[in-house]
Amino acid sequence: MTSVGAAVSRGARLLAGGRAVASLAPGYYMEPTILEGAAHDDEISQQEQFGPITCLYRVAGFAEALALANATAFGLTGAIHTVLNDAIKAGGSSLRDHRQTSGELGYFQHSFKVYDREGEKCTTPRCGGTVKRFTQNGRSTFWCPKCQK
Ligand SMILES: [Zn+2]
Repeated sequence: MTSVGAAVSRGARLLAGGRAVASLAPGYYMEPTILEGAAHDDEISQQEQFGPITCLYRVAGFAEALALANATAFGLTGAIHTVLNDAIKAGGSSLRDHRQTSGELGYFQHSFKVYDREGEKCTTPRCGGTVKRFTQNGRSTFWCPKCQK
């Protein structure tokens, strides 16, 4: 409830809930809570809430909504799940000898954004960065220093 109070004090509007459930006291039970207009850098926007709390944000469109979602640690988690899901659907990555249980090769390597692309332009729209490579103990890491900080 501290994060709800902090968000409201910074200008968020409480649309529902926001209080402890008195009939369940003592305890940490909270009414289902809906906030609108929390600041994007506010704690309630950036950290996982262990309660029935939803924040609503007004955005101009899908691109802005996606950018907001990706600007949190939850965005990274979501991106990791998306990439892993896509890789599994593609049967994995067959760089050398990986095969699916059926014996077929995986084909996710055709979707790599930076792996083995050292010196090439980053594929992220409007980035303009160049893919770099770092090698340690014979293992390479590839990244775009402009958009993968
Ligand atoms: Zn980039």
